[in-house]
Amino acid sequence: MRLSKMHLKTLREVPAEAEIASHVLLLRTGMIRKLVSGVYGFMPMGYRSLRKIEDIIRKEMDAKGGQEIHMSAVQPAELWMESGRWFAYGPELWRLKDRNGRDFCLGPTHEEIFTDVVRNDVSSYRQLPLNLYQIQTKYRDEARPRFGLMRSREFIMKDSYSFDRDYEGLDRSYDDMYDAYEKIFTRCGLTFRAVEADTGAIGGSNSHEFTALSDVGESEIAYCQSCDMAATTERAEFPDAPSTDEALLPLETVYTPGTKTIEEVAAYLKLPKEKTIKALLFVTYDQEEKENGYVAAFIRGDRDLNKIKLVNALGIPEHSIAFADEAKMGEVTGSVGGFTGPVGLHDCTIVVDSELPGQRNLCAGANKEDHHQINVNYGRDYEGHIIKDLKLLKEGDPCPVCGAPVKQARGIEVGQVFKLGTKYSESMGATYKDENMVDHHIVMGCYGIGVTRTLAAVVEQHHDENGIIWPLSVAPYHVIITLVNPEDVVQLALAEEIYEKIQQSGGEALLDDRKERPGVKFKDADLLGIPIRITVGKLAGEGKVEYKLRRDADKEELEAGEAVRRALEVISRER
Ligand code: ATP
Ligand code: MG
Repeated sequence: MRLSKMHLKTLREVPAEAEIASHVLLLRTGMIRKLVSGVYGFMPMGYRSLRKIEDIIRKEMDAKGGQEIHMSAVQPAELWMESGRWFAYGPELWRLKDRNGRDFCLGPTHEEIFTDVVRNDVSSYRQLPLNLYQIQTKYRDEARPRFGLMRSREFIMKDSYSFDRDYEGLDRSYDDMYDAYEKIFTRCGLTFRAVEADTGAIGGSNSHEFTALSDVGESEIAYCQSCDMAATTERAEFPDAPSTDEALLPLETVYTPGTKTIEEVAAYLKLPKEKTIKALLFVTYDQEEKENGYVAAFIRGDRDLNKIKLVNALGIPEHSIAFADEAKMGEVTGSVGGFTGPVGLHDCTIVVDSELPGQRNLCAGANKEDHHQINVNYGRDYEGHIIKDLKLLKEGDPCPVCGAPVKQARGIEVGQVFKLGTKYSESMGATYKDENMVDHHIVMGCYGIGVTRTLAAVVEQHHDENGIIWPLSVAPYHVIITLVNPEDVVQLALAEEIYEKIQQSGGEALLDDRKERPGVKFKDADLLGIPIRITVGKLAGEGKVEYKLRRDADKEELEAGEAVRRALEVISRER
């Protein structure tokens, strides 16, 4: 491609809303174009990189026996009602009506649709296993679309679904997809970690997230350097502190004026925070978004609450719970903002962290302004409706597997794999007949990759202050030939010759033949991040050029033929 002919508009100014490098650079290079918040289009260069990622994904999916199909983004509500997700998915589901008032949504994912295809088409064990996938546009009306392609409202996802006779089959399908994902993200040039993950609204038993490591990522992972434990902090188990066998002391109410936080009360009573109980108060909502109950969660004062564990313990979707209005909740349950404790609390669901029953003589709010209780003990003084691990694992906390202090890192979730089991095949009636004509539910898995988010993650991990540094495998072009002076016939002829040779050998070349100052061309070449740069300038008369890799600082003067040979070698090695 000749740059003089290309539809390309790079920006000098950084758009104000862009906070992270990938967003800034994808806009500055003109690779993506914003339409409205969370909705982007792709310009020629950006679209080329996107298609390369898609091609890598396709090859690895096909290698595992996946078959590509393409389903509509428009999905009838009836299927979502059958699976029970029309409500469970919440306000992220982009709902619409047709002219007759019939409900639809724009698919945020396609479990229902693929299950529907398979329940209609598959009837016998002979048709299993089956792995179907698509690379398709998804819609999620995100509460906070941000960071460009990272969290958008319209995005491209690769979604696969596996259909097996039994759980052994599912294990094989899952392992295949896990393996394919490792290959895909490696080929895209990402540094990533596969970590155990929560299953969220999708449902199912087992899941891993593939997280591209990055400080700007929204996923938090915890991992252990002494064993191979690695999980999202949402998912990571937190081992309970050992039980104590202190003698039970008598319950007492004490005056603790103005001590609304754990820090304040611990300081006032000269207690370690481990000896206190923290209360967190929530209100829950029903399907019509009306308030339908209160929840009080209790954990040790030195711990943090993991909201995902709480909603899982309650068995409700994440969007149907929020912090309670303390005054309103107090009228119903007897709680008092800043002084809430488990003793005597009523008319609410009491969820107790699994660690508390083993701890003795703790301090908790007394449900009375400016008062706490000391020597509060589980069983004797209060009980919970639900007892579950609610703790959020943090840097330095003990590893749930081996006890060593855990490390924390941030990352970008680029993919996730789930073992669904029979969640959808049961709710939607997808069955097959075995050799003896006995019906069974099909055992399913689902596997997603955020294709557009992967593109952003690659830029996030591969850039410097001058621009993008594409890994060759997903670069829009392999080589940029910078023609310093297009008016100079010798330079022009040599540049054209190099351009032809690279393309004839299967390389992808960009010829910067624009009538621009050399400084502008070099700046753009760096900004666009094309992996190999061949500069044709003053030395053209001697048949020489300057050869440089975008990722390296050094430049070399080479015979033109040698530069082409080197470029082709890099291309065949890294593509
Ligand atoms: P997140 O936790 O980031 O909201 P998710 O767990 O809801 O993501 P999945 O339902 O597992 O996402 O979707 C599969 C993949 O689609 C994710 O791993 C991610 O790469 C991508 N993805 C999800 N939501 C978005 C979004 N709003 N914008 C871009 N990509 C997304
Ligand atoms: Mg996910």
